[in-house]
Amino acid sequence: NNEEAAARAAAVNADSGAPTIFDKIIAKEIPSSIVYEDEKVLAFRDIDPQAPVHVLVIPKFRDGLTQLGKAEARHGEILGQLLYAAKIVAEKEGILDGFRVVINNGPEACQSVYHLHLHVLGGRQMKWPPG
Ligand code: C5P
Repeated sequence: NNEEAAARAAAVNADSGAPTIFDKIIAKEIPSSIVYEDEKVLAFRDIDPQAPVHVLVIPKFRDGLTQLGKAEARHGEILGQLLYAAKIVAEKEGILDGFRVVINNGPEACQSVYHLHLHVLGGRQMKWPPG
């Protein structure tokens, strides 16, 4: 019934702490189109782009950051590095004049991969409010 289906969908979209597909992307077991990479951060093109530029910025070491809502004080440095990497990506992609950074946190925000990631979106006129 509908209630069971909703419960299943919520469970699929919940934070289990299990490894994610992004581990394989980091390990380069799955190819991705890398835009920027350093010791701590990887940025690659989203497989299902929602704008002409749609890049995901992720920490190479998840360290408990399945979602922003799990952040603790010790994550402050990597959180800053991720945001700065988003700026570098925007610069490299030529969208510094207008871009959006999005973090979906949890089922109600439609988070689907439980490895923290920033979406960097641009290359078209964005709308507000987002859906
Ligand atoms: O914020 P959310 O968790 O929904 O975003 C996950 C993103 O990861 C989606 O935009 C999806 O297209 C992307 N993705 C990807 N490559 C995969 C799996 C998901 O780029 N192999």
